[in-house]
This record gives sequence, structure tokens and C-alpha cells, in this order.
Amino acid sequence: MHPLGQTHALRARDVRVAFDGTEVVAGVDLELRSGEWLGLIGPNGSGKSTFLRALVRLVARTGTVELGDGREPGPTDLALMPQSPELPPGMSVVEYVLLGRTAHLGWLSLESRRDRRIATDVLRRLGLTSFAARPVTSLSGGEAQRVVIARALVQQSPVLLLDEPTSALDVGHQVDVLELVDELRRSDGLTVVAAMHDLGMAARYADRLLLLERGAPVALGPPQEVLEPGLLSRVYAHPVRVH
Ligand code: ADP
Ligand code: MG
Repeated sequence: MHPLGQTHALRARDVRVAFDGTEVVAGVDLELRSGEWLGLIGPNGSGKSTFLRALVRLVARTGTVELGDGREPGPTDLALMPQSPELPPGMSVVEYVLLGRTAHLGWLSLESRRDRRIATDVLRRLGLTSFAARPVTSLSGGEAQRVVIARALVQQSPVLLLDEPTSALDVGHQVDVLELVDELRRSDGLTVVAAMHDLGMAARYADRLLLLERGAPVALGPPQEVLEPGLLSRVYAHPVRVH
């Protein structure tokens, strides 16, 4: 820990992921301040999703990842909202959101009254109370996206990892979802790492951007520095082969 106390929420050093001998995350270093929003950008296949999945160890990685206090993140420290998750048929909104409590559940994986209260509170904050009993498969794109965010929020993790949280939405709903995340960041002090496909939205909402090219970090800094036309046209002009 820093001698003056906790100065960052998350630190990653030399994070690498390889599939079949090919590196798709190629040495990412990061230090996130508490309450910061980092936007992850880069062409399709540049490793944004894999990097987020590596942070929560859904894929094997090397390198180090630590929280502000120097600990390795445990199952409840980082909440990942995956890119287009499956919405299980037959499951209600509240049941789906409660899945986010899984890492907190105790003996026999039974939900407590507290877990249910947390889910109810999050649904209320996201304007989803009237959807609680609806089957998840009956929701519109915007509603489903909010439900998936709700599932990440009930984890009550200090760091929220969002994988393209607005990719399936029209512009109005994109702004709604991003405003919501921004509000939560301000009110709850959440630290956000979000893979973002829309560079305009990334510039508007993120404090800093990390640009990936074939898994390698090529620029990290404030949006106006990273979104440099020459750099973008070079990186985005060479689409990566997606296997
Ligand atoms: P992005 O999210 O930036 O579009 P991804 O992280 O999804 O990129 O993918 C990065 C690269 O890793 C791509 O070439 C992709 O095909 C490959 N990849 C992702 N997951 C796997 C996997 N489970 N097995 C093999 N290759 C994978
Ligand atoms: Mg992706």
C-alpha cells in the first residue's frame, strides 16, 4: 500500500492471455483511481472482452492484478457485466438479478432476506420494479440491458467491469444506460472499466481511454489525446482476423 493510504482501486501489471499459443492480450498495465471511468477501445478482436474476462479469471492469464490494498481480487471484488449474456428462458427478472449474489451466498447457496432486499433495492434504482416478475426473455433490448446491469450491481463490488454495455441499443437507450452508470459512479464511488464500441460515447463518459491493438496497449490517456485521427485510422484500418 502507498504510505499515504489507498491511492488506486485496481492495478494490473503485464496482463497476458494466450489462446493456442497466440497472445490476444499482450502485456497490459493499468492503474485505476477510485471512482475513475476507464474506456477500453480498439477494433473487433483487439482483446477488450478477453482482458475484462482475464481480470475476473474467466480465462487464464499471467501478470498481476491487485486491489488498492494490495490484495488479489476475490470473487466479490470485481463485477463483470458480460457482452450479450444468455437470458435463460423461464427465469424471472428478480431470479436473474439474484444470480449476481451467487458469490456472496453462504451454506447451501440459499439467498437470505438481505440478498432479496439488495435485489429489490437495485431494481427500484434502475426503474425495474414493475418488471421483477416478468420472464427475462420477454424484455426489450433496453430493458434487458438494464437487467444485466442490475445483476452486476447486486454484487456490490467496488469495481464494475462492463463489456460493451450499450452495443445492442439505439442512441437514446445508449445515453440512458451510460448516464445511469455515471450516476452510480458519482453516488456510490464505483470505479468503472467499460469496453466501448462507440468512440463518441467513450470520449464523453470516460476519464481516460485505453486503446488496444491486437491485444497490445497502444495509447492510454485522456480521450482527446487517445482519439488522435492519425492513430485511430492506423489502428482501425487494419481489422484483426477474428477466428
Ligand atoms: P474484442 O472484445 O476486442 O472484440 P476479444 O477479446 O473478444 O476481442 O477477442 C480477442 C481475440 O481472442 C480474437 O481473435 C478472438 O477470436 C480470440 N478469442 C477470444 N476468446 C477466445 C477463446 N475462448 N478461444 C480462442 N480464441 C479466443
Ligand atoms: Mg468484445
